Amino acid sequence: MNYRLIKILAPHHEYLILNQNLKILDLSLCAQRFADSPDEVSPGKDVRIAFPELIGVEDALLEILEGRQPSLEIKGVARSLDPQYPLYIDLYISDYTDEKSSTHSLIVFLEDATKRMVLEQELAQQTNEVNLLLSSLATSKQYIDRIITSMADALLVTTNSGIIKTVNKSAQNIFKYSEAELIGKPLDNLITDQAFIEKISILPTLEQGEILNDVEVVCPTKTGETIALSFSCSTIQTEIEGIQNFVYIGRDITERKRAEAEKMKAIEREKELRELKSRLISMTSNEFRLPISTIFATTELLENYGRTWSEDKKFQHYQLIESSVKRMTELLNNVLILGKADAGKLGFNPAPLNLESFCRNLVEEIQLVSLENQKIAFAYFGDCITVSLDEKLLQNILSNLLTNALKYSHPNTTVNFSCSCNETEVILEIQDQGIGIPAEEQHQIFESFYRAQNVGNIPGSGLGLTIVQKSVELQGGKIAVNSEIGVGTKFTVTLPLQNDRKTP
Ligand code: ADP
Repeated sequence: MNYRLIKILAPHHEYLILNQNLKILDLSLCAQRFADSPDEVSPGKDVRIAFPELIGVEDALLEILEGRQPSLEIKGVARSLDPQYPLYIDLYISDYTDEKSSTHSLIVFLEDATKRMVLEQELAQQTNEVNLLLSSLATSKQYIDRIITSMADALLVTTNSGIIKTVNKSAQNIFKYSEAELIGKPLDNLITDQAFIEKISILPTLEQGEILNDVEVVCPTKTGETIALSFSCSTIQTEIEGIQNFVYIGRDITERKRAEAEKMKAIEREKELRELKSRLISMTSNEFRLPISTIFATTELLENYGRTWSEDKKFQHYQLIESSVKRMTELLNNVLILGKADAGKLGFNPAPLNLESFCRNLVEEIQLVSLENQKIAFAYFGDCITVSLDEKLLQNILSNLLTNALKYSHPNTTVNFSCSCNETEVILEIQDQGIGIPAEEQHQIFESFYRAQNVGNIPGSGLGLTIVQKSVELQGGKIAVNSEIGVGTKFTVTLPLQNDRKTP
């Protein structure tokens, strides 16, 4: 090293000058401070006694002396490990040529490296701590991720503007969308139900930690199935002050809802059955009591006074018995038809039928038994003469509707019955000017044993319209009722003509 440079450096560093045998030639004032054995630092002493870190590097020192290596640095040598007074040194060894004698020596600069080393150690320690923290963060993130992944509930996190940021596996399974199909999309694309959107609109007003529970929604999946979910919704603060995200945890309650609906259906059915039973009891007791007591009283009269009565009077009484028996037989027949229909045994057997003459004959038959001087005005439109329909079912429909129209009409009135057909269907309309059906009961009149409140003393079982409806349905038809209290009632039956509708 240049002598002048040494002159510049020397006042700021402690140093030792060594000869080729590593004996101390000269030293700065406080060079001992850095020695391992300060007492051994004096001219003439082997430097390796006081500075043992130079043991083993003799070859390198020789190379410096011979100019083959410029210098050697030994850094961070610990002199004192006392935590109160630590001491670390750096050694910079270079060649030194005395200007006067031109002899080659070595100069060892000694520098206090304690501050740097302590800082380095603190930094290393802090780096370790940060690494530990990072790895424990990574571990807990993995742990939370595992919990989220293994959650059976769907988890969705959205931005405050409703854009989906995170979804777990269950959300993908429940909605049948992949993660890529959900991330970045608005939540209201996935759940379009307005009631749900309205309920979650209060989320921005929730306090941190507050939860909006049991927000139920029914929505379709990607594959079109309908699912029911119950959501717990909350807000979380993001890393940006004042900006929240929304967390939705949804439980799939489709099965529960289905079970509930089935239970409700079963309860409804049970209720219906109970009502049906009580209607059946009241119908049978009312409808059988009168004809039975008529038969009973009439036979008693015949027994006691028959011998003295004229043939005419006796005939009248026999007719009374006959009509009572007929009424009971009709009732039993209706019950039988319904039983068959319920058991699926009321078949549909279409066959060619001359519709017009069938209707005319039926009108005549019914008109014959009409007691109250009522008329049935029959009108036939259309060009179909023979149609393919089930005669028995048609009989069930028309005889019940026509007898009802007469039964619920006042004496001396006319019932209009029209039959028309077009390319595809037969339309039957029966209109009376009778008592009418209360609007609030019109949806119930097709139920078995149901009778409207306004029937008064008019006899009936509440079975006729049930039979009509079943007979219409069996043929794939429709029935509609239009009625006004005190004005009259119109039943319209539409029957499809699928088969060879028309024969000239
Ligand atoms: P019912 O044997 O009582 O006539 P239905 O099943 O034929 O039984 O009819 C059910 C109920 O519908 C009747 O009890 C009556 O209240 C009402 N109803 C049916 N047809 C008419 C009609 N043409 N006018 C008024 N009410 C009717």
